[in-house]
Amino acid sequence: MISQQTIQQILSRIDIIEIVGGFVKLKRRGTNYLGLCPFHNEKTPSFTVSPAKEIYKCFGCGRSGNTISFLMEHEKYSYVEALRWLAARYNVEIEEKELSPEARQQQQVADSLYIINAFAQKFFSDILFTSEEGQDIGLSYLKERGFNEEIMRKFQLGYCPDQRDHFARAALTAQYNPDYLIRTGLVVQREEKLLDNYRGRIIFPVHNQTGKVIGFGARIIRSNDRAPKYINTPENEIYVKSKILYGSYQARQAIDKADECLLVEGYTDVISLHQAGIENVVASGGTSLTIDQLRLIRKYTHHLTIIYDGDSAGVKAALRGLDMALEEGLDVKLVLIPDKEDPDSYVRRIGATAFREFIAANKKDFILFQLEVALKDAANDSNKKAAVVNQVAETISRINKAEDFTRQQDYIRQSAEILHIEETGLHTLVNKYIRERITKQENKAAAAAQATEEAPPAIPQDEDSLNLLFRHEQNERGMIRVLLEYGLRSWDDQSLVADYILSESAELADLIDNKRLLMIIDLFRDWYQQGLEPTSKNFLYHEDQELSTLAVSVMDVHHELSPNWKEHYEGKINTPDDLYKEDVESVVRYLRLRKIQRLIQENQVDMQKSALTYEEWVVLYTTHKHLKEMEMTLLQSLGTVIVK
Ligand SMILES: [Zn+2]
Repeated sequence: MISQQTIQQILSRIDIIEIVGGFVKLKRRGTNYLGLCPFHNEKTPSFTVSPAKEIYKCFGCGRSGNTISFLMEHEKYSYVEALRWLAARYNVEIEEKELSPEARQQQQVADSLYIINAFAQKFFSDILFTSEEGQDIGLSYLKERGFNEEIMRKFQLGYCPDQRDHFARAALTAQYNPDYLIRTGLVVQREEKLLDNYRGRIIFPVHNQTGKVIGFGARIIRSNDRAPKYINTPENEIYVKSKILYGSYQARQAIDKADECLLVEGYTDVISLHQAGIENVVASGGTSLTIDQLRLIRKYTHHLTIIYDGDSAGVKAALRGLDMALEEGLDVKLVLIPDKEDPDSYVRRIGATAFREFIAANKKDFILFQLEVALKDAANDSNKKAAVVNQVAETISRINKAEDFTRQQDYIRQSAEILHIEETGLHTLVNKYIRERITKQENKAAAAAQATEEAPPAIPQDEDSLNLLFRHEQNERGMIRVLLEYGLRSWDDQSLVADYILSESAELADLIDNKRLLMIIDLFRDWYQQGLEPTSKNFLYHEDQELSTLAVSVMDVHHELSPNWKEHYEGKINTPDDLYKEDVESVVRYLRLRKIQRLIQENQVDMQKSALTYEEWVVLYTTHKHLKEMEMTLLQSLGTVIVK
């Protein structure tokens, strides 16, 4: 955890034009900058960056955010990674935040494991390249398999000597904690002694997204019936198998560029393909793909191509559970490579160009491939065939995202063809599965809603009420916007805009229907009362992504108090600087008007009660008249007549 102080320091340095401009070519346009959106394909620039507000918005695809969310989106960083990247860029020293004792303990263990792994990686690489045993056994084996030194260094390969405790002794001499050494799986304890776990094996370090070593795969050199081919790091604080894709660190940029991720089974497949210049490739490690792994892939691309070798159990395992990939919106293709080959041997034999061509020419659609295999299994058994039809309908029904509608239609058509059944029949069946899933989700949502709050508000049908609702929402947001933009400017001689808005908002809070917006007001008030000086930046860069997104959404890049306004207000206002007061005032007036209109309504309900005494009625009537006058004054000052 990074301390708040460090975060503030980083934020104060951020120059959104410099950072975003490093990835997108920006041109000045008035107070804003304009460029081609990096998130969608366009020929006319609609990607707008406001240096004053430190946000970007794309009017083509609707993406918006701040410098940090830009890095998160564009570079696939986590929030903390983005902060660290900026800290390095601006030479800000990172100070870690106080943690709870448990969190600190866990952090310390994780840090220790990273340090030990880094030490081990270096130790094993040194042995491989410089020791006699490493060169004679490890290096000659790797060279025999066709790897060059450059690629070995890129993947930081190593060799563990075939001795009882060569590594363990080195690690203990370097003062590493024996408990943590055991946790990394690098050593095992045998009767009070620590022994090397990877004796005589080639070491493949496994990296996380930021390039740190989180674990190892250790491969035996000479096949031996008693020993496993690979030993892998046991699950620990930093090695979580379900989240790992081998090679993702080395492949990230290539995947982004190719807009495709190739999936193979083993470490050596990844390394061979890299050596051949095919770098958009990762390995699943021979287990079925997990939701975390699929999401990791989807951060880079929607196109997953699984390279499948006929007799590989690992890739078959990866194929299981791929229905999840469809729900994640991934487009999955399969490539079956020729018999008795694996990607490693095949790319060596035919070369990179031919390999690429082979992949491109032999992609099979995952759903249709599964269908063909299942159909072959079912042969002439009509019960089995019915099950296949149901299965494929269920699978297709999972492609239920709006944008994938055409894809779903295509699948129905092609599957019906393969199955020799009526397209409309399959269509009906798919719809049945979609309905079932929606009903299930609705029941779940209804149960959850009942448990937490009252029924959701009815959605207004006609366009007018929608406009009204939109206008109201705009004004609610306006309240937050002026608070964030002008909060620290002066309101009058004694107070700031923030004082004014916070005192008004206490009264007007119940008029703000979007309760999430109140989070910002509340947080602003907290900070302000603590003597801090919150600005829009503190919200734009808040670590709570919901809050930050909300703050970006209330900011309007085109809502600039431009000097042109001066002419418009000619004579009325002296300097453009004063315009913000007008802005603040009109937002507050609007909400006040709402408040008064609600009071009038309530008062009218009271007046219609039958059991009123004359005195009571007079009080209500006087109130009514008074409220009506206030309403009129406000309407006049707002310069418009607003229908209730
Ligand atoms: Zn865009």
